[in-house]
Amino acid sequence: MNLNDELIATITAEALAALAAVDTIEELDERFPSIVGKRSAFASMQKSFGSLDPEQRRELGARLQDARRAVEASVELRRIDLRAAARTTMLEADRLDLGDVVVASQSWAVTLGHAGLVGSTQAELEDVFVAMGFTVADGPEVESDWYNFEALNIPPAHPARGMWDTFYVDLGEPETVVLRTHTSPTQIHLMESAVANDSLPIHSVAPGRCYRRDTPDARHLAAFHQIEGLVVDHHITFADLAGTIETFTRAYFGPDIESRLRPAFFPFTEPSAEFEITCTICHGAGCRTCSNTGWIELGGCGMIDPAVFESVGVDPDRWSGFAFGFGIDRCAQMRHELSDMRALIENDVRFLGQFA
Ligand SMILES: [Zn+2]
Repeated sequence: MNLNDELIATITAEALAALAAVDTIEELDERFPSIVGKRSAFASMQKSFGSLDPEQRRELGARLQDARRAVEASVELRRIDLRAAARTTMLEADRLDLGDVVVASQSWAVTLGHAGLVGSTQAELEDVFVAMGFTVADGPEVESDWYNFEALNIPPAHPARGMWDTFYVDLGEPETVVLRTHTSPTQIHLMESAVANDSLPIHSVAPGRCYRRDTPDARHLAAFHQIEGLVVDHHITFADLAGTIETFTRAYFGPDIESRLRPAFFPFTEPSAEFEITCTICHGAGCRTCSNTGWIELGGCGMIDPAVFESVGVDPDRWSGFAFGFGIDRCAQMRHELSDMRALIENDVRFLGQFA
């Protein structure tokens, strides 16, 4: 073996050794010029042939070129291997091992979803009223103006409509359609149906979602929940209404929470009252939440106005009744002492998890 062949063998061995030391595609790209490219020993040796005679140059050049091509072939094989290794590493990293997840976070495996605070409050309220002899009714959330307002003794342009900031639904029909602003339209459905089926009396509660064009704040939401109570029977008096409110208050909030009624105005009841309960935070002693009165307003109630009975065909000389309604969200807020009602709709699992 002459000196040149020895040199070619040496730079080939060094190039292959350098190639073997490369661990990644990026490293291979970076080192390619010095292993077998322009900055390699192969290139330097090629340049040194300039001084040789043409015959020698061609012959030696061909041998050098063969060696260089062999190294280039090794580089390509190495590139394929490194690419496969990189892909395997990436897949390993992306692999979703469900067993690992369960082990890493045991609480996930045992934490099941649960009813939200509003839903569970509604269920508890229904339970209390069912125990008091009420049935639970349901009603539509999208109502005609008739059910939401007119049948409830709130004619068009009546100033009382100012009490409800209403979302109107444009169905392209002449009839005015709204998202119900209260659960009271369910009273109308219940009474119409009872008259049609000759199934009076009625002792029902109707819970459900309502909508008002309110800006959400600590005590108001634009979509909220009410529960409506309706009793239509013979010889129903205001004392029955007050007794029902009081029985409910103690059953739901506890024996040390009382209720009281204060005169108010609602178009669909006469007389009307707002009912307040003992402040659940200070238990009547007076605090910031109840403005130091010891009482918190919960809802409205009253004896059903004869005009409402007339609109659904109930004979006010034979039947009398009362209705009441209050916010389910407000109820949850007071029972759990939530400073801001918006927590109910923010879907923060840290908040929601407290009511599992
Ligand atoms: Zn208070």
